[in-house]
Amino acid sequence: GIVMSMYALLRNQPEPTVEEIEDAFQGMGLEAGFCGNSLQISLRESNGNSPNCCMDQKKDHKQVTLSPSLFNPEEFMPLDPTQEPIFPPELLRLKDIPQKQLRFEGERVTWIQASALNELLDLKAQHPEAKLVVGNTEIGIEMKFKNQLFPVIICPTWIPELNSVEHGLEGISFGAACPLNSVEKTLLDAVAKLPTQKTEVFRGVLQQLRWFAGKQVKSVACIGGNIITASPISDLNPVFMASGTKLTIVSRGTRRTVRMDHTFFPGYRKTLLGPEEILLSIEIPYSREVRFFLSIQAGLPQEDDIAKVTCGMRVLFQPGTTQVKELALCYGGMADRTISALRTTLLSGRFWNEKLLQDVCAGLVEELPLSPDAPGGMIGVPAHPHPQLLLQVLPDSKCGKLDPTYSSATLLFHKDPPANIQLFQEVPKGQSEEDMVGRPLPHLAAALQASGEAVYCDDIPRYENELFLRLVISTRAHAKIKSSEGARLCLLSLADDIPGSNETGLFNDETVFAKDKVTCVGHVIGAVVADTPEHAQRATHGVKVTYEDLPAIITIEDAIKNNSFYGSELKIEKGDLKKGFSEADNVVSGELYIGGQEHFYLETHCAIAVPKGEAGEMELFVSTQNTMNTQSFVAKMLGVPVNRILVRVKRMGGGFGGKETRGIVMTVAVALAAYKTGYPVRCMLDRDEDMLITGGRHPFLARYKVLDETGDKDSGILGYPLTFIMERALLHMDNSYKIPNVRGTGRLCKTNLPSNTAFRGFGGPQALFIAEHWMSDVAVTCGLPAEEVRRKNLYREGDLTHFNQRLEGFNLPRCWDECLKSSQYHARKSEVDKFNKENCWKKRGLCIIPTKFGISFTVPFLNQAGALIHVYTDGSVLVSHGGTEMGQGLHTKMVQVASRALKIPTSKIYISETSTNTVPNTSPTAASVSTDIYGQAVYEACQTILQRLEPFKRKNPSGSWEDWVIFSLFYPRTPNLGYSFETNSGNAFHYFTYGVACSEVEIDCLTGDHKNLRTDIVMDVGSSLNPAIDIGQVEGAFVQGLGLFTLEELHYSPEGSLHTRGPSTYKIPAFGSIPTEFRVSLLRDCPNKKAIYASKAVGEPPLFLGASIFFAIKDAIRAARAQHTDNNTKELFRLDSPATPEKIRNACVDKFTTLPDDCTTW
Ligand SMILES: Cc1cc2nc3c(=O)[nH]c(=O)nc-3n(C[C@H](O)[C@H](O)[C@H](O)COP(=O)(O)OP(=O)(O)OC[C@H]3O[C@@H](n4cnc5c(N)ncnc54)[C@H](O)[C@@H]3O)c2cc1C
Repeated sequence: GIVMSMYALLRNQPEPTVEEIEDAFQGMGLEAGFCGNSLQISLRESNGNSPNCCMDQKKDHKQVTLSPSLFNPEEFMPLDPTQEPIFPPELLRLKDIPQKQLRFEGERVTWIQASALNELLDLKAQHPEAKLVVGNTEIGIEMKFKNQLFPVIICPTWIPELNSVEHGLEGISFGAACPLNSVEKTLLDAVAKLPTQKTEVFRGVLQQLRWFAGKQVKSVACIGGNIITASPISDLNPVFMASGTKLTIVSRGTRRTVRMDHTFFPGYRKTLLGPEEILLSIEIPYSREVRFFLSIQAGLPQEDDIAKVTCGMRVLFQPGTTQVKELALCYGGMADRTISALRTTLLSGRFWNEKLLQDVCAGLVEELPLSPDAPGGMIGVPAHPHPQLLLQVLPDSKCGKLDPTYSSATLLFHKDPPANIQLFQEVPKGQSEEDMVGRPLPHLAAALQASGEAVYCDDIPRYENELFLRLVISTRAHAKIKSSEGARLCLLSLADDIPGSNETGLFNDETVFAKDKVTCVGHVIGAVVADTPEHAQRATHGVKVTYEDLPAIITIEDAIKNNSFYGSELKIEKGDLKKGFSEADNVVSGELYIGGQEHFYLETHCAIAVPKGEAGEMELFVSTQNTMNTQSFVAKMLGVPVNRILVRVKRMGGGFGGKETRGIVMTVAVALAAYKTGYPVRCMLDRDEDMLITGGRHPFLARYKVLDETGDKDSGILGYPLTFIMERALLHMDNSYKIPNVRGTGRLCKTNLPSNTAFRGFGGPQALFIAEHWMSDVAVTCGLPAEEVRRKNLYREGDLTHFNQRLEGFNLPRCWDECLKSSQYHARKSEVDKFNKENCWKKRGLCIIPTKFGISFTVPFLNQAGALIHVYTDGSVLVSHGGTEMGQGLHTKMVQVASRALKIPTSKIYISETSTNTVPNTSPTAASVSTDIYGQAVYEACQTILQRLEPFKRKNPSGSWEDWVIFSLFYPRTPNLGYSFETNSGNAFHYFTYGVACSEVEIDCLTGDHKNLRTDIVMDVGSSLNPAIDIGQVEGAFVQGLGLFTLEELHYSPEGSLHTRGPSTYKIPAFGSIPTEFRVSLLRDCPNKKAIYASKAVGEPPLFLGASIFFAIKDAIRAARAQHTDNNTKELFRLDSPATPEKIRNACVDKFTTLPDDCTTW
């Protein structure tokens, strides 16, 4: 999508501006690992400036010595215009051929393309139930994801009347099929040409369209489609309703024009249109007599998104006064349809002042109460976002004296050009040109991925006779299965069909298929196999399961109340806690919730199983990080030895831990179906299924008690399983601080939600976050600057951690000092304070936090790896190792290692795939250790080859690779590992990776939105094997972290059903989430003697640094609260993660969130 957006832009606009580039990328979700670099590359490509051009624009920054660029634009393939695909001439010719009706008959649907208005109206009269489809952005989704069937679809896009644009006396009239981008363009032209007072409504519509979907959607979605969809969260309908937009509605022989008002949407997704009627045109009025017309969206979790609440406001004053003649406030996201606040706006005759604003807010709270299932979901946000709209009218409305700091209410976040800097250490002078270690070698599959040629699991061509599988899943959180009956023509695989064992999972505590009982919504009960994915999907709807509900435990609080835990308490204790607390001046205690996180890899889980027809052999192509477990779980389910099962992984489209174990719920079903039918079977989960079934990051509830700035601490962490997650959490509860007396206990809660799983950081980020939370509370309580308290409490070289591991090569203070300096922290802190004094409704926050992340699997035996190297007679080398490639660049780094070890160019080395028949018994590709352990395995395999070559080399020093074919296999093991929770001794980790981030944000106190202004990161990754990949990992992990702590929120119903099952409801970071200034620097001169070529692991450690954005937001909220609560800077307040707009808005306590008692409500 990103590549094609860039391509489309360059084709239409060969010399785009920075703004046009940003617009082209707007709203695209960023799979972590893909952020600053990509935007920067596009900018550089487009303007051809020097790689560091962006930073030149900032005059106030000190000059930094820059490393060479991560890439050399001169090495890019030159543009060859002759290779441009041409627009198909056949289609061009079509436009000159007279159009006549087209009809396509499908299996279940008839599609009719009407060529004239009369024909369309006749068709609609014949088929009143038929749907009109223009952009199909709504109907398409209803058919694919909501299983709706529309047997007759009529397409009106050829009809001139539905595409016309007319500038009339009262407004501009658009044919209902006009795409939104052409509406936008027409309105922009009108705004440029017409007097300002005439275009206020147009500007209101444009304000909505500014954030409406991406270019692709706006190019096809039509204005009429948005209205008739009647979505309660439509961004345009509140504006149309508030402005009194006119709609012309026709049917065969009838025509009427209505003004859109509160009667137009009589119910949920209903309009006033009769079955035979269609919407012909929409007239958006000029704002002739209206004094103000404004629109606003609030709770935009990111750019270009459906807002949580949208509001359109029209206010008319008595000429020359501030006396209100008419007020209209229309909302989306506050009810099951677009509504107008009719009672609250009965204000005629009152004067526009702060009292009126407060009364309106109070009235709205009463008139428009938000139910917990309100579509926008700004639950608990009273009067939101009305104050901002109302305040926007203030400065200009002759209201008398206005506090100048109030003007910040009217300012929208503006965009600055992005400025990214990446600093790293150059390779030493004299390093051979062919030695690629330490150089920013591009990801070896980057070009294939960009061009779409890279083969992912579902790209493997279909086999003959291949079948498709869909899972049948539980719709209940906890229930007995009373009966199930299903699609007769298809195969319904239930537990009884399993030849081997129905028991599965890491701890044999799960089932392949639920037998008698389901334990969560999404529990796999069975599967249906059919000849096409569509038939399989349809057949699943024929499967009827009846349940008898049992009591369900949904939340951590429920689990605590019901004593529902896995295993016993896990604990780490050091020092004398009692003594520590008895000597303390201050004791800080609190509770904190950290929500879970969905992996949101671009490629959902996918598997293909191919039965081999003899001796129980089966070959599986799977998108998995864990070939060994996939192999052994399938073998166990089929009841065959593991050696009959071959698992192959070419690459994954992202994993982040999500493909470590949970894919198995689908893969075993696919294997079973292949076994039973004897045919190849394929399944790729849809996004909603993937989100529902395969789990994510574990949410945590933490309770802590800490004393003053020495940070002695007693903390309790409650989360969901796995034990390993809780172990890592307890091992990271110190973050980077020396705590003399500490006790941490953890319990694993057992609930009726789908099992959670590994996710980048594996319990670490949650514990680090808790540590930073109490650390900032300690600073506030002590009245000291947070950065000072943090710096003072950092460990020192040689200190013992709370789990008694000695810290050697402790580079964190270096990272801290460098980050503090390069971010100009102190100067910027003063600027932030000044900004906050001058702005009442916008606040800035600045925060610097460290991270220390332990590198190793905490289960010692997993720290092993294997590699197999083939040298072929043409001199080419095939490297196989146990690690899987998921975009993180592991294969690229392994090629670099082999290249240096064998002293041959990287071009001679290739990695094709990971498979269980080349390297068996592998650990999952996880815990950031893969480069370390597979790098070592590849290195040692290379050494064996070199040793074997040695005699031949001696005999014939000019001999070539072509003389030998060798393979070798090694199992090195990380030395001196093995921490014991019982004795609190032994090394938990091989070493640590350190980093520090300093982030600045600006929040809008009235809407809760925030903008990431700048982030500086200094990361110690040892001597980087590949700065391009390592910086990519730092940026990607940081962005995924900011998603975790500020954007991504999973919502479950009280019955345990996941509401957030796709990108429309679950918000991952987009391009606009990247801090406007994003500077990443790899610490120099810090070789790590414990890993391959002195490098360090990088995958997980930077993720936590995303929390610097959270704590900067908290800092900004503190400034807002201080202003509105008698400047009490020592007040502690709770802010759970993620810091979503509603949480930010609610935390900014002010006169609109706490309305005075004497407010008049209606
Ligand atoms: C990725 C994505 C992002 C989106 N972002 C936003 C957003 O930010 N804000 C927002 O408000 N919406 C958003 N939407 C929703 C959707 O795009 C809009 O509602 C869009 O305007 C629908 O137009 P369409 O042409 O695709 O409608 P279609 O799917 O073709 O039709 C939608 C409905 O309108 C009816 N219809 C269409 N034309 C007529 C007519 N002339 N007369 C009678 N009935 C008619 C159809 O029968 C159907 O019921 C988004 C959708 C997607 C997929």
